[in-house]
Order: sequence, then structure tokens, then C-alpha cells
Amino acid sequence: MPTPPKKSTRSREEGRRSTRRKSPASPIQGKEFNYVLQLNGEDALLLDRYQDILAQGAAGFAETSYNYLFDNPDIADVMYAYERSGGNIGELVRGMLQHKLSLLKGQFDEKATVRSEQVGRAHYRLGVKPVWSLGAYRLFMEHLRRLVASDPQIADEDRDALESALIKMIFRDMAVMTEAYWRTAVEQIREQRDELGVEQDLASEILGHIPQMLWTVDIETNRISYASPGTRGFCDRELEAPIPCFYRINGAERERVLTAWQQVIDGQPVQLEVRVAPDEQSERWYRMAFYPAANRRGRVLRVHCLMEDITDSHTDRERLEQLSTQDEVTGLANRALWYDRLSSALAVARRNPGASVAVMVLDINQFKMYNDSLGHEAGDELLRQIAARLQKVLRDTDTLARLGGDEFGIVLPLLQDTGRAVERVVGEIINSLSAPFSYRGKELCLSSAIGISVYPQHGEDAGTLASHADSAMYRSKWNAAPYLFYESESSTASATRHLQFSGQLHGALEREEFELFYQPKIDLGSDTICGAEALLRWQHPQQGLVLPKQFIPVAEQLGMITPITDWVLDTALEDSKHWSADGSQMPISVNVSARSFQAPGLVQGIEQSLKKAGLDGRCLEIEITEGTLMADLDEGARILRKLSELGVLIAIDDFGTGYSSLSYLKRLPIDVLKIDQSFLENMVNSPKDAAIVRSIIELGHNLECKVIAEGVEDEAVRVQLKDLGCDLVQGFHISKPLPDAGFRDWLSKAAG
Ligand code: C2E
Ligand code: MG
Ligand code: MG
Repeated sequence: MPTPPKKSTRSREEGRRSTRRKSPASPIQGKEFNYVLQLNGEDALLLDRYQDILAQGAAGFAETSYNYLFDNPDIADVMYAYERSGGNIGELVRGMLQHKLSLLKGQFDEKATVRSEQVGRAHYRLGVKPVWSLGAYRLFMEHLRRLVASDPQIADEDRDALESALIKMIFRDMAVMTEAYWRTAVEQIREQRDELGVEQDLASEILGHIPQMLWTVDIETNRISYASPGTRGFCDRELEAPIPCFYRINGAERERVLTAWQQVIDGQPVQLEVRVAPDEQSERWYRMAFYPAANRRGRVLRVHCLMEDITDSHTDRERLEQLSTQDEVTGLANRALWYDRLSSALAVARRNPGASVAVMVLDINQFKMYNDSLGHEAGDELLRQIAARLQKVLRDTDTLARLGGDEFGIVLPLLQDTGRAVERVVGEIINSLSAPFSYRGKELCLSSAIGISVYPQHGEDAGTLASHADSAMYRSKWNAAPYLFYESESSTASATRHLQFSGQLHGALEREEFELFYQPKIDLGSDTICGAEALLRWQHPQQGLVLPKQFIPVAEQLGMITPITDWVLDTALEDSKHWSADGSQMPISVNVSARSFQAPGLVQGIEQSLKKAGLDGRCLEIEITEGTLMADLDEGARILRKLSELGVLIAIDDFGTGYSSLSYLKRLPIDVLKIDQSFLENMVNSPKDAAIVRSIIELGHNLECKVIAEGVEDEAVRVQLKDLGCDLVQGFHISKPLPDAGFRDWLSKAAG
């Protein structure tokens, strides 16, 4: 029967005491055994009459018993343990013998029951198994049967009845002893369960009373495996994984929570402060802390989460921060002063109809990498150089501040033609940061992600505008866009999608949810196919086909891109082997993202994939973007040279959208330039765009590269590209990317 629920208000001491106060165990009813075994007065009389005769040979039997104990190694171990704990084996055997002899007296009252019961309980405590006792009973039985059969002092007509009485006595003893053994085991389990219950009550009591919320997320299933009572109380909806109260978090803060979540799945404990609305009216500051629990191989299996209200200490700290206004590293305004200036600019704008204010948050993309690899001193120096360049671009009336870490804030007050003015400033900022920085003779390349919000379109007050610029910055990071304006609903939707993906991407490889699509490349001179690009797709169990732009940035953040790249390489090379009937092999292009490119072991991975497929380096082309290459030019050049030594072809993807240093490109072993599709959009109608395409083609040829245009959607563009001297084309006009089987069909149709 289930025990009634305990009150959780019970104190620990009370709990302990109550488990010690054992309810008296109901005694074993010897009568029941006598009834079942039909033990009666005649048996008692018979045993009483012959007890002295049956007790003969007790010494010999003691020796047999002793040997039995020590012949069985398992029993012997228990005996030695008993001896080590201060027990006396001689006495134990004597006690056993005494007990067996007492059975011969023909006493089967409750006193005898108690004796048998004590034996069973003692056996349980010593660790003597019932089956071992069975062996001892068998020996005893055989010893007695021999006596009953052969002793001349026993009357022949009594022998059968005596043997039957003895068997019943032994059965009785065995059964009572086993029942007692079993009862002791059950009592002990109950005791342990009660103890555990007390501990559990206590834990629930603590968790129910502390103001913090705690929950645990299982990463494999993306489910909440534990939520404290406080967490459940805080959310009036069903708990949603991984952040149960995500809908209560201020919309502008959600991107930051998302980034923190990515980090913790990556294995780093994270803390952050966010604004949360516990109810409709109020908004308070909460500290969120995520702690990863990883297995021995470093894979995060669970994340333990904590959330607590820190509004009071946050307000105190803000007040303290307001007292100082300068950032020590760069000498720029700090966050507090920036906020102040923003508030003043807004006050002025409110009095000037038509005026607006732009707010920018700028985050340096590769800063953490340099800070970690070159040290904090280098990091500080970089920040000072960045600050100096930014300051040059801005006017005196603008405010530039360091908001913390590698984050800068800018306020552009009183703008009239906002859109154009902001784009001009952003363009200059990006330009100013595109030239390499230098630290102790080393050239370092950086890029930034910029988020922009504008008064009055995106918000009325400083707090809202600042957090909207912040969330636009995160979105620009995710989308690998150099800058983005704030967009109202998208941030929440994309934050939620990223959160969901981050849980499900783990294991997508093992679940074989990835698939490669292939898109042909056509030689404009001969009008024949000369290669194909492998494009990754994720068959998401709920959302169907997911495109790479949606999940590759998440996979990169989660540190999962390298195994994915390995899989793409292996699969693309293997598939491409089966494409041509005559065994001729066309090169297959594989995209390598920035993280994969920078990860150690890329070259060996490629070498291994080629070896596995039994293919030559010439059968593979690697596509990397300019940004990937420019992040660390020296290292990038080294990797490209190694790949080139393997015979692997190298293409620069999305060419024209980055900030390549042309003089540097000249020195790299590049085989192909891929003109970004954005240049083709208006090429037919815009002579300016056509001129850009022409100059990229000329540049490519001067660098001794082939030039391919991607995103060719109609015949007019194809014809114009051919006229401009472009070598190859790729795009929907020729074929959309197709799954392996569809691509093979396309090939055979194209050939026939
Ligand atoms: P990308 O390497 O520049 O690939 C070209 C993209 O343009 C592909 O999008 C392709 O489907 C699309 N496209 C091709 N022809 C046309 C056209 O005529 N019109 C238009 N509008 N689009 C066209 P997709 O497959 O969504 O891939 C997007 C990006 O994701 C790729 O850009 C590449 O950077 C990345 N990616 C794809 N597969 C992989 C992969 O296996 N690994 C990595 N790291 N990145 C990948
Ligand atoms: Mg590509
Ligand atoms: Mg491209």
C-alpha cells in the first residue's frame, strides 16, 4: 500500500526521530506453520522419547558443518569477514549446533519460533544466504536419517513416524528462518526509503522556499527534466524548454539569452542580466546563470539553470556607475555617459519636429579570438586602435563610447535625412575597420557587426532604443551581415528558432538528417557541364527542409561545424564518383565556413576524405568567402598553400561583398573567383553594375583565375556574361540545386 504523503513542513530532526521510532514488527505466528505441517502432540512425544539417541554423533556432525562452511569459498568469505569484525567462528558453529539440537526436543511452541526467527535475522545481518543454510539443513537431515534407519535403540515400528516428525521439524525451522530473513530485508528497505523520503522532503522544502528559480534542461531531447516549485509558480503557462519563462523576458534581451544559451551548450558556464516582466505591470532585473553538465568526452548532456531577482543590487550598481563616466582602456565615454548623452539628444530631438537620432551598437567579431590567443594587452591595444579609427569617422557632436568588452556605442544626434546619413556613416565605419590592424609587427584583420535603431521609428526612450540597437547587432552577427537596422517582430521569432535549433542540431548528424543537393556549373565556352556545387540541407523532423543560412551559423556557434564539414566532404566525394558513366570525374565544390577553415586539422581532414574516396585532389574544389580568408591572412595563406599542394582547387565565394586586399589575393593560390549574385540582379539594365561585373572578370583573369557567376536566373544574364568574357555560370536558369538522384537524372538528360 502506498504510504500517505508526508507534510513537507516537518523538521529534519522530527523526520529522523520518526524513522528511528520503528513500528513493532508483528511476530511470526508459529501456530500457522504447525498447522500447515500437521505437527502435533504425537510428533512431540516421539521426538522427546528419542532425543538423546538422536543427539548422538553431535561432535562429528559439528565437524561436517564446519567443513561445509569453509569448503564453499563464498560462505568462507562471509565467515572470515565475521571473524575480522570480532566474531568467533567456533562459537558460531556451536550456536548452530545448539540450535539444531534444540529442534530434536520436539518443542514447537512460540519460544521455539522466536529462536528460529532470531537465526533468520542473524543470517540476514551476517550476509548468510538462505541457500547456504539449505545446504546445512541437508547435511543435518542426512545425518539424522542415517541414525533413524540404523540405530538399534529405535523401535522398528517408530522409525517412519520419527523420520516424518524430524522432516516436519526441519521444514518448520527452515521456513520460519527464511520468513524472518525476508522480513528483516523488507524492514531495512522501508527504513532506507523513509530516510530518503526525509531528505527529499527537506530538498523540496528548501527549493520551495528559496526565492531563486532552478531548472534543468536535457540537451538531447530539449526537455525540462526538473523545475523547482518557484519556476513553476513564475510561469503561468506550460513550461517551455529550454527557458521556461522566455515569453516573460523583455523582447530586446532575448537575443542575448539566446547567445548565452549557445555558449553553455558549447560547454561554458554563462551568467547574464536581463529584464523580465514577472507580471503585466512591472519589469525587474534578473540574473540568469547557466551551468553545463558534460560527460567525460566533454559533450554537454544537461544544463542547470538559475534565475534570481537582482533589481535592488542592479539599481545600486547603476547609481555607482553613473558616478564615473570614462572608460579606462580607451579613454572614451563609458556606458553611463553614453546613455546620458543619448537621453539629452532625444530631449533635443523631441523639441525639434522632424529631427531624429540614430543609435548604433558595434561589436567586434574576431576580438575574442585575438584576446584569447595574443593576450589581454594585445586586446587592449586593439581596442584603442579601433577607438581611434572610429573617432576619426565621427563628428564632434556624435558620441562614441565603449559599452564594455568589445562593444562600442554611437549616438548620432539631429539627423535630417536619416537613412542616407546613417548608411554613409556605417559605410565609413566599416571601411575604416577593414584595413589590417597591427600589433608588434603582426597584421590583424577585424570585422564588426553593427545594429542600428532610430528615434522615433524604433522607440521613444533611451532604454528601448539602446536595447533595440543591441538586438539588431545580434541579428547582424547571426546573419553575417555587416550591419542591420532594428526590425520589430523578427528578433523574437529568430531567437526562438535559434533556441529550438540549438537543441535539435545535436544529434542531427547521427540521426542522418542532413542531405546534400547539387547544382551544376556550366562552361560558357563549350556549353558543357564542368562541375557541381554541394549545398547542404537539413531534413528537420518538424519543419521539413531547412536551408543552410538558417542553421550553419548556429552550428558554427555550437562548435559543431567541423564534423558537419567532414560529413559533407565524404558524402560529396562519394556521390560524385557515381555521376559519369565513363568514369570521368568532374570536380565537386564544397563550401567551408570560417570556423571550419580556422579549425586545426582541416587540411588533414580533406586529405583523409580524398584518400577514403580514392580520388585525386583535382576532383575537389573548396569555396571560402573573402571574410573567412581575411580574418587571419597569414594563417589563411598557409592553409591555402597546403591545400594547393594537395591539388585541391580554391574558389573565393561571394566575391565582391568582402573587403579583400587585392595585393594579397595576388600572392595566394586561388583558382576561381565567384562573382556574388547581388551584382547580377540589375546587370542587364544598369550599365554601372555591368561595369562592376566586367571589372571583376578582368581582375580575375589578371590574377590568372577562372571567373564564375552564380545566381544566373535568366537567359539575358547568361548571354551578357558570355559577352563580358565570364568563364562559367551557375544558377536556377541552368538548374536548381537537386538531390543526388535528381542530379543524376539531370546529367543523363543533359548528356542525351
Ligand atoms: P553559396 O555558396 O554562395 O551558394 C549559393 C547559394 O545560392 C545557394 O543557396 C544556392 O541554392 C543559391 N542559388 C543558386 N542559384 C541561384 C539562383 O539562380 N538564384 C538564387 N536566388 N539563388 C541561387 P543555399 O543552398 O541556400 O546556400 C546558401 C549558403 O549556405 C551557401 O552560399 C553557402 O555559403 C552556405 N552553404 C551551403 N552548403 C554548405 C555547406 O555544406 N557547408 C557550409 N559551411 N556552408 C554551406
Ligand atoms: Mg558556395
Ligand atoms: Mg556564393
